[in-house]
Amino acid sequence: MRAVRIHIIGTVQGVGFRPFVFRIANEEGLKGFVRNTPDGVEIHIEGVDGFDGFISKLKRAHPPNARIDKIDVVEVQPLGLKDFTIETTREGGATVFAPPDLFTCNDCQRELLDPSDRRFKYPFINCTNCGPRYTIIHGLPYDREKTTMRIFKMCPECEKEYSDPLNRRFHAEPNACPECGPSIFFIENGHRMRGGLERAVETIREGKVLALKGLGGFHLVCDPFNKDAVMRLRRLKDRERKPFALMAKDIEMVKEIAFISPDEERILESASRPIVLLKKRKEIWGISPGLDTYGIMLPYTPLHYLILQEFPLIIATSANLRESPIMKDESEGVEEISDSILTHNREIAVRCDDSVVKVFRGKPLFLRRGRGYVPDPIILPISEKKSGIIGLGGELKNTITILKNNYAITSQYLGDMKDYRNLKYLEEIINHFKKLYDFEPEVYVCDLHPDFTTSRLAERSGKRILRLQHHIAHVFAVLAEHSVLPDSPILGVSWDGMGYGEDGKIWGGEFFLIKGPKVLRRIHFDYIPQPGGDLAVKEPWRMALSFILRAHGRIVKKGILEMVDNKKLESVKKAVERGVNAPLTSSVGRLFDAVSAIAGISPLKIDYEAEPAMKLEAVYEEANEVYTYEINEDRIEVNGMIKELVEGNEPPSVISGRFHFTLAKIILDVANFIRRNYNVKKVVLSGGVFLNRVLLELAVPLLENNGFEVLYPMRFSPGDEAISLGQVFYASLYGG
Ligand code: ZN
Ligand code: ZN
Ligand code: FE
Repeated sequence: MRAVRIHIIGTVQGVGFRPFVFRIANEEGLKGFVRNTPDGVEIHIEGVDGFDGFISKLKRAHPPNARIDKIDVVEVQPLGLKDFTIETTREGGATVFAPPDLFTCNDCQRELLDPSDRRFKYPFINCTNCGPRYTIIHGLPYDREKTTMRIFKMCPECEKEYSDPLNRRFHAEPNACPECGPSIFFIENGHRMRGGLERAVETIREGKVLALKGLGGFHLVCDPFNKDAVMRLRRLKDRERKPFALMAKDIEMVKEIAFISPDEERILESASRPIVLLKKRKEIWGISPGLDTYGIMLPYTPLHYLILQEFPLIIATSANLRESPIMKDESEGVEEISDSILTHNREIAVRCDDSVVKVFRGKPLFLRRGRGYVPDPIILPISEKKSGIIGLGGELKNTITILKNNYAITSQYLGDMKDYRNLKYLEEIINHFKKLYDFEPEVYVCDLHPDFTTSRLAERSGKRILRLQHHIAHVFAVLAEHSVLPDSPILGVSWDGMGYGEDGKIWGGEFFLIKGPKVLRRIHFDYIPQPGGDLAVKEPWRMALSFILRAHGRIVKKGILEMVDNKKLESVKKAVERGVNAPLTSSVGRLFDAVSAIAGISPLKIDYEAEPAMKLEAVYEEANEVYTYEINEDRIEVNGMIKELVEGNEPPSVISGRFHFTLAKIILDVANFIRRNYNVKKVVLSGGVFLNRVLLELAVPLLENNGFEVLYPMRFSPGDEAISLGQVFYASLYGG
């Protein structure tokens, strides 16, 4: 007779872990108990044998949504227990593991469509393996009392399931049924009725735009094959060309309209149910004009499944006003952007957008990290135990990150902080995290930029402040997710649209040499005027003109510049020459704008961020020839490339091919150049430019084949959503 205590740290609460432990203990004939602890679960098992079998099942066969970070096993005295029990009492203290929202599992899907089941067509069916989590939680440990399900008292039958360790709904906190749980409501022309699913389906058939309440907020839903409906949605959302996400009934439907690799299929079907960008097979008018991909997801709530019984495919795009947060309650103005509303009375505790990914080498590349992934923590490789650091990020595409017991917890995408509604959202989340994680900020990390609202927020806190340059934060975010310390020299490539530089200029084409806290800006793209400042981002022809003026010394009309009137061109030329409202930038994002404009495929005025670069990526065809560039002591200069582009007459696909290849070669050249003087083995790729899959597909193997180890983002976005994580990692290492 012997006994062991097993302590597990990881995402093991709210994912059906304890019933699983109960089951395997019984299978192995072991007695004991399992209980939740602040950072995981504790298991006591005793018996004569079966220990090895138990532990190997624990490691191999645990529920799909559980994640084990650490297992400690110690030998203890047997207690002479008679059976194996699940202790439901909880120890105090908040954990760092709030589970992310999970899609409706296959068992629940089956019951949903089974006329003999008591939850037939019940839109809130769930079990321990699935259902809402993060978006209904007010506090930890995860308990019904701390969720928005608190107001629904379980009926005797639900209660029975909830208390039975062998039931799939044992301690399923949002457990509900038509007798006792939430209900749906349909609102049309100011009239509100209970139920109304059939009428909601009808309105979609009529070509109307339905606002549908989901997990983290409302979607706007309409029929993608109805041109008028699509145009109406574009008017309501005030978006001319921004791609709309699609939700497909099943994988067969996905395959009809898009190409999909096995890796993409796996991620599309994963419990996180992200929107996956897939290559178009069939063009559907107006969904993602000018791009070669669709963003597609599978249903993830019971209500989605019910609606997709009626349609093979719907548009399901976030319901929000331009540049403002996703709406989570019909009182937030949902009726102004829709024709009718299908809502429910299970309150959303915290709003959260759908996640959007591309797939690169079998891993997600996050365009947006939200529902299904947030708030999964990562453990940082720091030696002493630390808490109390908060990173407020930058300004665009912002998130916050907190550090608690060496775990970094990054929030969902919060949007652009220039808009006060998004800033309010950020404050909402800071307060939410404080409560959820019992977190008290001691150190605030913010951007160098003096005018960012987040920098001011840090200043108002009265706490200690640390400022970190934007692009350095980008590199540290990637180091954090790979658990890599910069204790030997690392080359940090940081390319994006813009970030405030240490010299007050706009950075965005940076190569850093990093060793410990020392960061040397070793090489960067040569500065060039950005005529009109922010306006140049909206009107990409301005950057094209700026590059042409430098390369040719005069105006040469090429690509979309031919559509700009001469007066405008002349006045921008003057502004550039006099240096009026033409800040200097080293941004690769702006170089993308210029090349896309010279190639003639960028619009005159963009409708969404990075549109010129995305269109350039969309027309890519493989090329093996580079454009001319020079790497001087500390600058990269591309006048030769601009001349070749302007004087050549290549089609956009060739321009795209050569341009992407050139950028990959520049990274390799710089890496080799730096390796000659320093012992650099690792290259970090960071910044929003690396959302470009073509560039990753070219640069990563090129570097690897030359003996470099390449670290690129796969758990967080390459873009500004990861700034707060980089800030927290840097501060935890070097913030004192
Ligand atoms: Zn389920
Ligand atoms: Zn019930
Ligand atoms: Fe950035």
